[in-house]
Amino acid sequence: HYHRHFNFCAGPAALPTPVLERARDEMLDYQGRGLSVMEMSHRSAAYMAIAEKAEADLRDLLAVPANYRVLFTQGGATQQFAAVPYNLLGPGGRANVINTGIWSKKAIAEARHLFGDVHVAASSEAGGHLAVPRPEEVVLSNDAAYLHFTANETIGGLAFDYIPGSEEGGPRRPDGSEAPLVCDMSSSILSGPLDVSQFGVIYAGAQKNIGPAGLVVVIVRDDLLDRARTDMPSLFGYQALADAGSMINTPATYSWYLAGLVFEWLKDEVGGLAAMETINARKAARLYGAIDASDFYSNPIAIPNRSRMNVPFVLNDSRLDKTFLAEAEAAGLLNLQGHRSVGGMRASLYNAVPEAAVEALVDFMADFENRRG
Ligand code: PMP
Repeated sequence: HYHRHFNFCAGPAALPTPVLERARDEMLDYQGRGLSVMEMSHRSAAYMAIAEKAEADLRDLLAVPANYRVLFTQGGATQQFAAVPYNLLGPGGRANVINTGIWSKKAIAEARHLFGDVHVAASSEAGGHLAVPRPEEVVLSNDAAYLHFTANETIGGLAFDYIPGSEEGGPRRPDGSEAPLVCDMSSSILSGPLDVSQFGVIYAGAQKNIGPAGLVVVIVRDDLLDRARTDMPSLFGYQALADAGSMINTPATYSWYLAGLVFEWLKDEVGGLAAMETINARKAARLYGAIDASDFYSNPIAIPNRSRMNVPFVLNDSRLDKTFLAEAEAAGLLNLQGHRSVGGMRASLYNAVPEAAVEALVDFMADFENRRG
């Protein structure tokens, strides 16, 4: 028998309990085959069926148009900071990136490290990343090969409330031509419905809303597959990955399988991404509401840009941080410590974090404030 605490970790994050139960049940003997999914050849018929079902369910959930390829690759979202420019810069093109916080800055730093010049198309840094740049502040360079942005800054708890440059299709260079939009959706993918057709490339590390670590999902539009440099590691290549069905080499088979179980859970038990979004909106409203109603806790992010997935907050008396965290853990509320770079608290409310977890957290916070405030 087991007892599961409420887990607010930013990643690797909580997985849905029914998914873990099913993985447990299928662990030793997968559907009568006498071995676990971990022990299967990735080229076996049984595994190919798992891989294909996962892709089909993800396509279904996100309504991925037919002219997009879905890749299941590795190296974390961090590897995509390199893979994106390798695949998309082309001759004479420049990376254009919006800076909204730590993960955007890492994407900028990697593109700069590999290819030199990066154009920062807009930045919220001067204002301390408390609100995303307004659409009209996003200015591309004429040689923009693409515009990259981070839909949800996991550490800052800052989320876009619009798709940059999408008003007339893609983002525009000063000469009026369109540039593909590239989005790091590591901490927000599958939190609600998405119009994939607005994007050239979407990528997401799995360890938040998709499944276990070790897997990255990349969704790339067909017409962008032919721009890759030739002098790059072959495993980075979107075309090569697409041609090989994401099996140039051995993929992260078990993570891919578990991601498939998460997609099935989203479809069959949650009822799809619109239903998921309604629940996520309720969870976030409950926690931000509690924070805003107290003068003991606070969150500084502009209301339209508050992340539904990652809710950072501080105790107005930071001397109580350690006690807060220790008492929370004793109450079965895990991983509320903010990122080491910013301190304070952070509650990540990914899809697998149930509403009961948020209720328990809000009750604990009120009780702590009453006793210590
Ligand atoms: N981008 C975002 C928005 C993230 O939250 C993270 C991880 N927290 C990353 C990129 C890096 O992901 P990985 O650790 O999978 O490389």
